[in-house]
Amino acid sequence: MKNIVVLGSTGSIGTQTLDVCRMHGFGIKALSAGRNTGLLEKQAREFQPEYVCIFSEDAYSDMKQRLSDTNIKVLCGMEGLCSLAGLKCDIVVNSVVGMVGLVPTLEAAKAGNDIALANKETLVAGGRLVTDCVKSNNVRLLPIDSEHSAIFQCLMGAGSNRPEKILLTASGGPFYGWTRDELSDVTVEQALRHPNWSMGAKITIDSATLMNKGLELIEAVRLFDVKPEQVEIVVHRQSIIHSAVEFADGAVIAQLGTADMRIPIQLALTYPERLTSPAKRLSLSDVGELTFGRADEDTFICLAAAKKAIAMEGNAPCIVNSANEAAVALFLQRKIGFNDIGEAVCGALGSVKFIPEPTLQDILDTRTAAEEYVAQRFGG
Ligand code: MG
Repeated sequence: MKNIVVLGSTGSIGTQTLDVCRMHGFGIKALSAGRNTGLLEKQAREFQPEYVCIFSEDAYSDMKQRLSDTNIKVLCGMEGLCSLAGLKCDIVVNSVVGMVGLVPTLEAAKAGNDIALANKETLVAGGRLVTDCVKSNNVRLLPIDSEHSAIFQCLMGAGSNRPEKILLTASGGPFYGWTRDELSDVTVEQALRHPNWSMGAKITIDSATLMNKGLELIEAVRLFDVKPEQVEIVVHRQSIIHSAVEFADGAVIAQLGTADMRIPIQLALTYPERLTSPAKRLSLSDVGELTFGRADEDTFICLAAAKKAIAMEGNAPCIVNSANEAAVALFLQRKIGFNDIGEAVCGALGSVKFIPEPTLQDILDTRTAAEEYVAQRFGG
């Protein structure tokens, strides 16, 4: 019987995490949402956690009202999120969107909680602050991101053998093969149409710009302690191979499956055990053909910027991540064009002050500076 804290329970990963918990009867200690009070109430009534947290302070009184006939304690804001992360539990699932998940992740580790991480922005922006904190508190950081779960699974049983190379697969997104000119008129609706995965809005836009793959490259460097040049991005349109590793002898081990996030979510919760899952089984003979290609970094400049940022290290990954978060929000509000996202990310990397060994405060200040850069650039 597990006792789980889910941060970001109303999003795509959060709801699928609760599907897994429902299926196996895992206990829920606490749930948090950004502002979706209706769904959080429904989840709280079903799973009966001790605590819920609503991040948006505007929604706090509504949330309290909704659960006033229960014994569930209602918290709010960053303080509430950090309290939840620090509760005594078996594992904290961090599936919030954006680097707002950074401080709660550190709090979870400091409290000695294992972390199942879907919130890649935290690892990208926080860098060594996160990996060192995880190490020094002797907790586990288990990846939920499908590619990183795949790499993790390829390394299960590898013993002391280190991967020589990581083959990070990318679907290529909805605009694979498009030119920069063709991309200039892309609408929000077009960008939200991902060919293989059903995900939240922010990550779907990141998949369309290939920023997601750039963030994942940085995430892989952090999680598996490899150099950026050891990670090769391979465009694989079918999203069947979720990633692979290559060892010193040239052997390549890959993890395959249907595109169902409940597989990596469940493994993060039950590792090292594998339980049954309702995920659709893979039939390779039905799939027929798997294809592979290269990513076009001249067109998808976000990917090139992310690569440059991880080569620089310091606060550079935080700069590109924060500029991207701000630019994607503006794109979703239809205030800027699709190509402006890449311009914002590259521009911020050249403009925001570089700090080689950032502290947590430096990282939080870098985020503000990158947001200000984007706001200014687009006249906000
Ligand atoms: Mg992924």
